[in-house]
Amino acid sequence: MIQISNLIGGQFEDPIDGMWMPNVEPATGTAYGRIPRSNAKDVERAVQCAESAWPIWSSTPVEERSACLRRWAQCIAENAEELIHLESRDNGKPISLAQSVDIPRAQKNLEFFAGAIEHFASEAHIPAGATHIHYTHRKSIGIVGCISPWNLPLYLFTWKIAPALAAGNCVIAKPSEITPMTAWMLSKWAKEAGFPDGVFNVLHGLGNEVGQAIVEHPKIKAISFTGGTQTGAHIARTTAGQFKKLSLELGGKNPAIVFADCDFESAVSTTVRSSFANQGQICLCSSRILIEESIYDAFRDALVEKASRIIPSDPMEPTTKMGAVVSEDHRNKILSYIQSAKEQGGSILCGGEVAPSPNDRCKNGFFVQPTIIEGLGADCSINQEEIFGPVITLQRFSSETEAVDLANNSDYGLACTIWTRDVSRAHRVASQVESGIAWINCWLVRDLRTPFGGVKSSGVGREGGFEALRFFTEAQNVCIPTN
Ligand code: NDP
Repeated sequence: MIQISNLIGGQFEDPIDGMWMPNVEPATGTAYGRIPRSNAKDVERAVQCAESAWPIWSSTPVEERSACLRRWAQCIAENAEELIHLESRDNGKPISLAQSVDIPRAQKNLEFFAGAIEHFASEAHIPAGATHIHYTHRKSIGIVGCISPWNLPLYLFTWKIAPALAAGNCVIAKPSEITPMTAWMLSKWAKEAGFPDGVFNVLHGLGNEVGQAIVEHPKIKAISFTGGTQTGAHIARTTAGQFKKLSLELGGKNPAIVFADCDFESAVSTTVRSSFANQGQICLCSSRILIEESIYDAFRDALVEKASRIIPSDPMEPTTKMGAVVSEDHRNKILSYIQSAKEQGGSILCGGEVAPSPNDRCKNGFFVQPTIIEGLGADCSINQEEIFGPVITLQRFSSETEAVDLANNSDYGLACTIWTRDVSRAHRVASQVESGIAWINCWLVRDLRTPFGGVKSSGVGREGGFEALRFFTEAQNVCIPTN
């Protein structure tokens, strides 16, 4: 059994109330460790430590903050093998995915914001003949809370803490209690990277306990949250009276719009990837596939043929393409949506069941077959609610207008993909779809300088590049006479 602890004020501490909880491996269904079940008392201690550290950290030269982030990134590089193993074990994701995406991107997030803070500049306003100069002073906020989900554990954790620390804030971070291991590893190298004690604090435990205490604490001045829309709404309500800065990256129900003039092979293979990567547990995954009438049958058959060949397997095997979903509860939620789809008249074209255990080690793991459903109305719950698993639906359209209407027929607005060879149409449709991100003839291509986030129920604010550094700073306008 691996036991992990909180990092508070540079020390590894057990939870003050001595409460612990199990950490379960999704591929085997068994607990392999225990983690602190922290609460408001641990948050209070972390706040006190962060409060003492902030004057030091906020006045540390940018070059030194940047060097700490670079050394931390180096720790990730040097320990990549172990991190890859832990991420796959904790989350159930294929080890090849942790190796190609999660861990390299976590390293890149730290390196990116180490560079970004060195290039971060603020504005000055000096009109010709001005009697006064105005300039914007961007100051760190103080203590900030960073709360991240389980689907891309270290990737999304570092995506928040890196800009927060680079900008001179002290951080109290809470990874998802379902996938705490890699955040714990990172916390072990904070001192080695050079962060003064109290600058970076990690508390493990449940969202509605320690997460809630972070969100409520009056001395924590900003919350950066990635997770479900309902949790985001709850956090927005909780913090409203305190006027906290909030960045909310929430759920999605992303359309893939496939026009008849697309590059068929490329659209099919990328749509299979965009639908089922990480067992469909990426907020950017396509879940509603909208297909132009004239190619509907051919496209559907090609998708079904490719998806049926994906066999959920032991995540630790290097050849595995699909692993386990993250928990028993989550598997049951996915299965209940599939059952509801059947009851609402949907046809299951492939999958729809618990996948057979790939081996004896995984006999109690949480595996779901990649599932494709057709024949459901655009307004039914399966086409409206986020399932966040390996389940997609197919819908037909016969005009560009209908495609855009179907794409926008959702409370969510995170990402879309558009498949067409007509460049004018690609731009036109991208501008009409209500989403924070539009990928044309590609998916999940990221440039860390670009704004990242959603509209409607998919969130408020943008992460990425200078947007993140603006979020983690307060702008003060300073005005002074020219002479
Ligand atoms: P949750 O909303 O359940 O949890 C996210 C994080 O918030 C977890 O650390 C959770 O802790 C914590 N939390 C839960 N309740 C509270 C609370 N009252 N106060 C403070 N923190 C709380 O999301 P999931 O972890 O299930 O993640 C999946 C969701 O995340 C999906 O909806 C997905 O679309 C979304 N997501 C969005 C992304 C984006 O960029 N827009 C990217 C990735 C995922 P605990 O785990 O203990 O409950």
